[in-house]
Amino acid sequence: MTGSHPHSRGLGLTSPTSRARMVAELRKNGVSDERVLAAMQKIPRHEFVEEAWRGEAYRNKPLPIGLAQTLSQPVVVGLMSQALIAAVAGAPAGPRKRVLEIGTGSGYQTAVLAELIERVYSVERLKLLSELARKRLGGLGYRNIHFGYADGTLGWDAHGPYDAIIVTAAATEVPKALLDQLAAGGRLVIPVGPPNNQMLRAVDRIGSRYIATDLATVSFVPLLEGRA
Ligand code: SAH
Repeated sequence: MTGSHPHSRGLGLTSPTSRARMVAELRKNGVSDERVLAAMQKIPRHEFVEEAWRGEAYRNKPLPIGLAQTLSQPVVVGLMSQALIAAVAGAPAGPRKRVLEIGTGSGYQTAVLAELIERVYSVERLKLLSELARKRLGGLGYRNIHFGYADGTLGWDAHGPYDAIIVTAAATEVPKALLDQLAAGGRLVIPVGPPNNQMLRAVDRIGSRYIATDLATVSFVPLLEGRA
């Protein structure tokens, strides 16, 4: 097979069957939310990495996406998505839900969010990655994602408050702007800590109070301040 048409079904290592094996592995590793599992069964992860890495796309490992950044391993994407939407998605009626993502990267996590939550706002500080992700997600048919090119530690005030906020790079402490832009009843999921000792933390906002829960140890690239 040649080319990388976004709607190609993929053969061999990039087939729906490989994706089903990945989903089985997610289940074994604590991802139980059927909405998250269905989204990850559907999204062609191999379209989010460079050609040379496609054969590895459905193994449970992080992959390089260029510019010293990485696409998180599937289990981490699954666990973060599950922790995030437990608090916000699936309510039978009510206003449309909004999620803010910091660190668009390849756009894979963004696609998972776009399957689960009505409106997605995603901020990336590296222009090239932001543009590639925009093109890729447009090509896959997503119309509910808004892309921002900026320093995400400041959040994206114009569209807040958000029912959910997810950060896919590690912070030394939780940025105050993100706490401010979290809606009451909302949840923030963020890796916090130095490179070799990070915790995935959920912060729930209840009225004006914030309650933090540590979920798991993780390993993310650092969240950087300012645009590149
Ligand atoms: N979630 C992404 C991968 C995350 S890698 C995916 O699914 O592919 C972390 C990303 O955070 C990188 O793309 C990096 O450029 C971005 N990043 C780091 N600091 C940032 C900041 N202050 N604001 C916005 N994005 C940032």
